[in-house]
Amino acid sequence: MTTELEIGLYIFMLAGFLGYHVISRVPPLLHTPLMSATNAMSGISLVGSLVVAGANHGPLSTMFGFIAVICSSTNVVGGFLITDRMLKMFKKAPSPQLASTADTSSTSGDRRVWRKASLALVTLLACALVLIYKSDQLRAYFSHADLTPVLSYFYILSAALFILGLKGLSSPKYARRGMFLAELGMLMAVVGTLFHHEIVTYEWIIGGLVLGSLIGGSMGLWIPMTAVPQRTALSHSLGALAATLVGISEYYRHGGLLGRVLMTAIGFEVLIGGLTFTGSLMAAGKLQGILPGAPITYKGQNTSNISLLAIMVFCLVTLISKPSAGALFYLMVALALLFGFLLVIPIGAADMPVVISLLNSYAGLADASMGFVLMNKIQIITGSLDGTSGFLLSLLMCRAMNRSAMNVLFGAFGKIEKEEAGVAVEAKGTVRSIVPDEMAVLFDSARSVIIVPGYGMAVAQAQHGVSELAKVLMKRGIDVKYAIHPVAGRMPGHMNVLLAEANVPYDQLFEMEQINPYFAEADLALVVGANDVTNPAAKNNKNSPLYGMPILEVDRAKAIIVLKRSLRPGFAGVDNELYYNPKCMMLFGDARDSLNKLFAALKS
Ligand code: NAP
Repeated sequence: MTTELEIGLYIFMLAGFLGYHVISRVPPLLHTPLMSATNAMSGISLVGSLVVAGANHGPLSTMFGFIAVICSSTNVVGGFLITDRMLKMFKKAPSPQLASTADTSSTSGDRRVWRKASLALVTLLACALVLIYKSDQLRAYFSHADLTPVLSYFYILSAALFILGLKGLSSPKYARRGMFLAELGMLMAVVGTLFHHEIVTYEWIIGGLVLGSLIGGSMGLWIPMTAVPQRTALSHSLGALAATLVGISEYYRHGGLLGRVLMTAIGFEVLIGGLTFTGSLMAAGKLQGILPGAPITYKGQNTSNISLLAIMVFCLVTLISKPSAGALFYLMVALALLFGFLLVIPIGAADMPVVISLLNSYAGLADASMGFVLMNKIQIITGSLDGTSGFLLSLLMCRAMNRSAMNVLFGAFGKIEKEEAGVAVEAKGTVRSIVPDEMAVLFDSARSVIIVPGYGMAVAQAQHGVSELAKVLMKRGIDVKYAIHPVAGRMPGHMNVLLAEANVPYDQLFEMEQINPYFAEADLALVVGANDVTNPAAKNNKNSPLYGMPILEVDRAKAIIVLKRSLRPGFAGVDNELYYNPKCMMLFGDARDSLNKLFAALKS
């Protein structure tokens, strides 16, 4: 007979394959919203947390459940809100033929319907909560009635809605609608869980939901787009904390009575959850600038980390054969927390995006393990989806950076690159600089311009200036295109989100493979704070650490202008051969200031 564990494993595997299939169709344009959407969905750990908080299994269990409810609901509310904020920014350029009044009114009509539906659903949740809380009869009924089969159907429907939600992300046109379906799925799962037969008290649940919604709501509404990477890291840490606390509470409750299967699941849950919690917190701190961003390395770092990992595995194996070894369990949790911290300290802030994606994947695994512990299939599904999404994005980033997954997994690459940089910097010729007035003359004679944004645009917050410049040029009849490299900036889809924020229609953004053939025809390539993604050494110089990385072929344009502050290298620490190209002119300075000066020159 098939056991619950086998069913769980089948579900985990199939959800992973399905997730891979659906997520690999999400275009790079929507990779950042994808990250926050899977984050929000992984907040499904809320369903497990609600049961632990409301089941009255003792003060410690209730308290841990309460904290887990706060963490998970923060992720759900914050994740969905910020995803929606991002998706709202992705607009298509209005086409004169289609921009009829009928079209506009139908779109706003559509939006009104969605808004009303969302409001109705939230009201439904609030009413359900008040009703159960107020009515003793209802509480008594639900605590005795076995609604497990009904709940299973709720979860099946939620899982289908999550998959449809992710499928919506395959196009900006359907992305918001898809997310609405995912939100609906979450709501159904949460409302359904409120009727779980183990829940006997609602005080902590309501408190946790209100607090989490307030924290998540404020984060989702007010966090600036530039802080999305650190918000994502923070959200992974909250999800992982929820999983760890639920794992500890389950162990505390059952201890030596646990079977091998359950002990294995709890072990994985607290191990992955613990290291993801501290690792993600470190990542968020580094990205926010609260902690020093530079990699911290010391002799024997990899050896000590691997030894620590080995001790944790030993604890887990021992616990599986002897679950009553409580001291070993708590030692394992403490070591996992320490391991997460040690895993991230050797990695520089600039490398954090790959780490964040990996931690995303770990957070998904912790969530899935929690699903195995509580035998909650919806958690197994979303954990698997989240894990797949994080893993896939990490792989895509590695591929686009021409770096092996092993290199990423064993960290400290920020340091390696700095060492290589020393070797790479050597004189390559003369660098020409340009002033804004000369640049304005070049724009006057150009018929086609390709704008290449990079990390420097994000640092300078120059996306609005870039968008304004493009509008001015287009008004003059110049053909303007944006060239987007898959790893420009510091997270997948970074440039897309920033340009969308500056109202650049997404159909003006071209991916690397699409735009490269156009460079040879372009009169001018304007590089705004991009560096590595334009370095011809990636094509020509076998000794360069960048060799093999696909790049934007800016060097093929008839003229090139680069806006950056100095000749300093970018993320990879490699000197850029492009700057010594006779066609290339440098406008030194902060990109936003340079654009302002250029506007003034264009006007005069
Ligand atoms: P980059 O190679 O890191 O270069 C950014 C450039 O921006 C720097 O050379 C810097 O030069 C300039 N800059 C910084 N502040 C500026 C300001 N205020 N105004 C003007 N310029 C400024 O960036 P990229 O070309 O976008 O390439 C991204 C790199 O990050 C790649 O190596 C990629 O592999 C890596 N990466 C990306 C991701 C991702 O998911 N997107 C993830 C991990 C790693 P100055 O200091 O001279 O101004």
